[in-house]
Amino acid sequence: MHESWRAVLDHLRKHGGELRVPRFQAPHPASQGMRKGRGLPVGQRAHWRLELPDGAGLHIHEYARHYNAHVDRTDPGHAFVRHVRQDTPGIFAFCVGVLGALLGWWIGRARGAALGAGSGAAVGYLTAGGE
Ligand SMILES: [Zn+2]
Repeated sequence: MHESWRAVLDHLRKHGGELRVPRFQAPHPASQGMRKGRGLPVGQRAHWRLELPDGAGLHIHEYARHYNAHVDRTDPGHAFVRHVRQDTPGIFAFCVGVLGALLGWWIGRARGAALGAGSGAAVGYLTAGGE
């Protein structure tokens, strides 16, 4: 890995959060062996991911003039469900909520749906454990 990405990774490992990297400061992720991935569409051109030896993942959002990099606690290539639960807790709670609603509907038809959605979302929130 190029030393500029190595430095970004070291910084993120120590301090967490997200780091903005101007494009001219670091070589393109594709040239660093990172794989193109999927992620939440928030205006970026592409997602790049690199699975780290411990199962965490370097996740880079590519924009026109800069990159935004952060470390996911679990790289989706390593364990997809754990990645969604730990690194996108909002999405996870939503999915569990939908499952709860479906279950509620199935059990009690229309009247059970609200209860199912509520309890499903609560379970998602309690088990998400993200930051
Ligand atoms: Zn991420």
